[in-house]
Amino acid sequence: MKCTEAQEQFGSALDGALSLSGRDELFQHLSLCGHCRKEFEFESLTKQIVRKSVRRLNASTEVRNSVLNALRREYEQEAAEIPFWERLFAGRRLFPSLVTALVVIALISYLAPPEPSASRLAVHAASNDVIFQSLQNFLSLREGRLKPKSVACDPTVIKSYFQKNGLHFAADTKIIDDCDWYGALHSEFEGVQLAHVMYQMGDDMTYVYEVKKDDAMAGSTLSIPPAAKESLTKTGWYTDPLHADHSVVVWTSNGTLCAAVSTMEKDRLVAFLSTP
Ligand SMILES: [Zn+2]
Repeated sequence: MKCTEAQEQFGSALDGALSLSGRDELFQHLSLCGHCRKEFEFESLTKQIVRKSVRRLNASTEVRNSVLNALRREYEQEAAEIPFWERLFAGRRLFPSLVTALVVIALISYLAPPEPSASRLAVHAASNDVIFQSLQNFLSLREGRLKPKSVACDPTVIKSYFQKNGLHFAADTKIIDDCDWYGALHSEFEGVQLAHVMYQMGDDMTYVYEVKKDDAMAGSTLSIPPAAKESLTKTGWYTDPLHADHSVVVWTSNGTLCAAVSTMEKDRLVAFLSTP
C-alpha cells in the first residue's frame, strides 16, 4: 500500500467503514510508515476531541484552523514522549488545554448575544452613516415626505431615469414579476451622488439606498459601520440585526453599494435581492 492510498482510507477507517482486510492492510502500512502513522493519529484524536467536546462548534474557519494548528503543535510535542498505540487509545486524556480551548470557543459561539449591544445601536446615529440615512429615508417614504420622481411598472423606465440624471455608477434595479410599481429618485449628499429605488409589492414596501461603493466604503463624506464594512468586504452581504419591525440588508454589486430597508421579513428580502 502506498502512502496516498493509506491516507485516502483514513476517513473510512475512523468511521468504522473499512472491511477487516482493508483495516489490516491499512494498519500494516501504519506500523511501517511513521509519516502516515502521525497523520492518522492526528486525525483520529482531532475527531475524538471535537466529537466529545464541541457539539456546538460554530466558530469561524479562522478560529477553527488556529485551534487545529495549535492542537497539531501540541500533539507533535506529546508524540515525542508517548508510544503510538498508547496515545491512539488515550485521546480522551490528551490535550487538556486544547479541549478547554475548544469548549470555550463553543461556549462563546453559544452565548454570543443575538441582539447587539448598546454601543452597536449607537453606530447608526451618525448623520452620515449609510444605514442611518437609509432608515430615515424609508421612514420618510412611508410617511409620504419622500416621493419618487419617477414611478413606473417597468424597471427599464427607472434605469433610464438615472441615466438621464447623469448617475455615474450602475443603479441596481431588480426585475420582479409581482411588483406593483417601481419608484426612483436621484439626489446628492454633500456632493456624493445617491440613487433611491423603491419597490411596492402587495403590502410590502422596499426602499433601496444606492451609492458608488468607493464613496461609501473609502470616502470621508459617508460612513458605514465597521461590522458592515467587514462583512461586505468578505462576503458582499451584510444583514443589520438591529430592527424588529423591518429588515435591513446591505450588499455590493458592480461597484455599487445598496442598502435595502423593507417591511419584508429578512429571508424573503434576501431571496428577492439575490435575483439578478
Ligand atoms: Zn505512508
